[in-house]
Amino acid sequence: MRVSGRIIIERNLSFLTPLWQLCHEVNVNMAPAEEGPSENLNQEIIDYIQNLGSCWRCAIRFTRERKPEAYQRKSVEFKLEPEEKLLKASPCVICLGLVQDHFIKEVFIDEVCQQVLKFDCDSATFSCMVSLPVAIMLREQAVWFLLTEKFPDLLSKNLKIDYVTSLKDVWKFVFTEPFEKKLNKQLEHSSSPFQVHISILYKDEIAECGALVDICPEKFKHRYNRTRVYREGIFTRNAAQSVLSGLSAKDFQKYYTLKVPSCSAHYGPVQCSHNSIHIAGRYQKFSRKLCQTPWLIEGEKHMDTSIQELICKHLEPFFKTQSVKFSSSGREDVDVRTLGRGRPFAIELIDPHRTIFTQDQITQLQNVINNSTDAIQVRDLQAVTKEQLSVLKEGEEEKTKIYRALCVTLDGSTPTEEDLAKINAITELVLMQKTPLRVLHRRPLAVRPRTVHEMKATLLDDRPGHFILRLKTQAGTYIKEFVHGDFNRTVPNLCVLLGRPVDIVALDVDAVELDWPPAITIQT
Ligand SMILES: [Zn+2]
Repeated sequence: MRVSGRIIIERNLSFLTPLWQLCHEVNVNMAPAEEGPSENLNQEIIDYIQNLGSCWRCAIRFTRERKPEAYQRKSVEFKLEPEEKLLKASPCVICLGLVQDHFIKEVFIDEVCQQVLKFDCDSATFSCMVSLPVAIMLREQAVWFLLTEKFPDLLSKNLKIDYVTSLKDVWKFVFTEPFEKKLNKQLEHSSSPFQVHISILYKDEIAECGALVDICPEKFKHRYNRTRVYREGIFTRNAAQSVLSGLSAKDFQKYYTLKVPSCSAHYGPVQCSHNSIHIAGRYQKFSRKLCQTPWLIEGEKHMDTSIQELICKHLEPFFKTQSVKFSSSGREDVDVRTLGRGRPFAIELIDPHRTIFTQDQITQLQNVINNSTDAIQVRDLQAVTKEQLSVLKEGEEEKTKIYRALCVTLDGSTPTEEDLAKINAITELVLMQKTPLRVLHRRPLAVRPRTVHEMKATLLDDRPGHFILRLKTQAGTYIKEFVHGDFNRTVPNLCVLLGRPVDIVALDVDAVELDWPPAITIQT
């Protein structure tokens, strides 16, 4: 056992043993640990790296220390006085000050936390991603080459640079606790729905990464040409990794020399995001002048409002979200009502800031929506998982829908009882529907087979020539076109079946036979 300054380094560990431990403060009176050349090597490595101008945390990273506690101490005084002075003047040559005592100031933590708190997310947990300057990677590589030259034993063990404990891990070891305290949230190492992305920036990043271009001009010429595609810029970690992997110390050192940095790294913008929340329900639509989603023509809204807006204008402020995605089990035309139990729909609330809520609150929102308009009514409003959404789109073609159409003969004649009996006897009628003229501008031209499972026509006594046609059809059947024939683009059609020209006056969807989302019983 050897004493370094006021710190006692235990050396009962060797590079041959993967689970060795280092840098434990131990009682001097403890029985001496096993001595050996490899253990001495640990201290020599620390000394050597500190002499290069590194902080103590980076130095012990190169001895493969993996224990958080080893890095969480406030500071360690090593025996090398001159380096301490050097460290006070310049940041660490490896981490650029990131995990260095002299640079870990409350103000930095405050700055980052302020940005996270501004996002105002109520999530009890967060996960944290840190992106580091690529210059740090180059500096680590440079130190690794110097180290393996100084201690060839390291190379003889076939060790690679990934042997070094990653700076991101150490950053988390050091910062987790103060961040958790300030944010009043727990860090989740796997994945919290609330993600905080912290960028660490470095003023000399581009200048120092220039070495990568010198090493591999071809790679970066290509990347320069594609900068628009590469959002992250030219020098990504992946690009650097591919240049550095397999490079010899000699080739690397031809282009890169480790220098004391002129400034330290600093915190850049903090990005926060929360996974989407999905709310599902069923809507009834009573208006014949209402679109399902905002109808935009050249960016201009064509109609005052839509089903989506009538619902979302109440959900958005509650969940504190700026953007939503509306989806549903099919959609009806503007002039078609949807009655019965309504049509299943789901709304994705993107980047919500309010994430903790109860079903009671959702039911209250449903009441607010329903009291705010006569055009629609919503039921069974509830939170669903992303996985459950697949039900909405799954087998959309197989679902059946029930319609009620008010039809009229165009020649003023009234269908006879025999005509109606003939219609009512038809089952499983397969129509060939060429894309309707009215949707041809947005749907590809195709002929689609669609099945009418059953029909029932009833005359309206008080309106000559008018009759009600109830149909049960496969989802995706164009009902209006089945009635008027769409210039024989739908065959057979009602005009052919009745032997006279027929048109449709009004259409209602009576049932969308998809039992989703589950019905909610409201306690009164
Ligand atoms: Zn460092």
